[in-house]
Amino acid sequence: MAFDWLGRSLRDRAQEGYLRTRHCQHYEKDAVINIDGDHYLNFASNDYLGMRQNQSVLQAWVEGLAQFGGGSGGSPLVTGYSQAHLALEAWLADKLQREAVLLFNSGFAANQAICQALFASGGDIVADKLMHASFIDGALSSDATLTRFSHNDVTHADKRLHAASHADKLLASEGVFSMDGDTAPVAELSQLAARHDAWFMLDDAHGFGVLGENGLGTAEAAGLAHTDVPVLMATFGKAIGTGGAFIAGSQVLIDYLINHARHYIYSTAMPPAQAIATLSSLTCLEDGSARAALHENIRYFRQRAQECGLSLMDSDSAIQPIVIGDPKRAVAMSEAVRRRGIWVTAMRHPTVPKGTDRLRITLSALHQTQDIDVLCDALMLSAGEVSP
Ligand code: PMP
Repeated sequence: MAFDWLGRSLRDRAQEGYLRTRHCQHYEKDAVINIDGDHYLNFASNDYLGMRQNQSVLQAWVEGLAQFGGGSGGSPLVTGYSQAHLALEAWLADKLQREAVLLFNSGFAANQAICQALFASGGDIVADKLMHASFIDGALSSDATLTRFSHNDVTHADKRLHAASHADKLLASEGVFSMDGDTAPVAELSQLAARHDAWFMLDDAHGFGVLGENGLGTAEAAGLAHTDVPVLMATFGKAIGTGGAFIAGSQVLIDYLINHARHYIYSTAMPPAQAIATLSSLTCLEDGSARAALHENIRYFRQRAQECGLSLMDSDSAIQPIVIGDPKRAVAMSEAVRRRGIWVTAMRHPTVPKGTDRLRITLSALHQTQDIDVLCDALMLSAGEVSP
């Protein structure tokens, strides 16, 4: 029978502890999430700066809806591109000191688009081993030869680039890694790319808004110039609190994408109200207070966790994983902390490498120090309950 293996595959997954399920939230306010009628302190969101509920951003959504309606009504090259999109692109281009910026409906689409459009007829993509699925899938489905270097290993990246044989080479890394929370050696990687006449691409989904004096991300924090990162991708669905993504680069890159990126050309443009709300969020974040609150929470969590004997990874970002090493134990740990009123997600293979199944704790500017105390206590008590 056609597809009779689907159910079998799910049963196998469940048996091995890898079954994925969803939890439906009813509402969320100030880092308290309601799921299935129960309240939890939310330590699993990517809303690092609490912008999802920011009053000015919500007001901007409403004004955007009043001006443009609920949707864009078309793909960008037909009638979907509006003054709202243009204003967001122009703001980003100005702040990031890029010639041009292009908006996408998601980071997933942007990553796929860059691979598909730049590598329609061969080339080399050399990517960090831990890069996000959207980039890897994009690279695999393009005409590029994909090779991967060991995580954050510049020497290995150098070897990979030496072995690359095409004229067009892209060296790709995340700024802040989504599952480990550590930061890439972006200055070294960009220099390496330049030595090999390759383009350096940064997926800064988790650094944009959070890092750098002006929140412009990992490249700003590392003091890189715009020419050091010819392709910059970042998303709005995390620290910015809305949704969608952008690619920033030279005018010729953006014009080329407008002409060839299928994920851009053949997809309904993001609702203009979303572009307006996104720009509102970005301007609200300019004063740096939310960023400062987040960084203080990160510092406090790491200090408390170390005092509690919890084993942390080398991360200074909002993403603070605790590796458990086994999928069933990771789920048991997340359930044990849940019973103590804390929502933390277990991340398992294949989202993370086998044997590194973990709790992925994410901090937000909205957390109070007492919330972090409760989290650390819950983690300590739960670790005692879940046997190795
Ligand atoms: N890149 C990275 C590093 C991500 O973590 C994500 C989202 N998990 C994406 C790209 C995709 O972005 P989006 O959610 O906007 O599709």
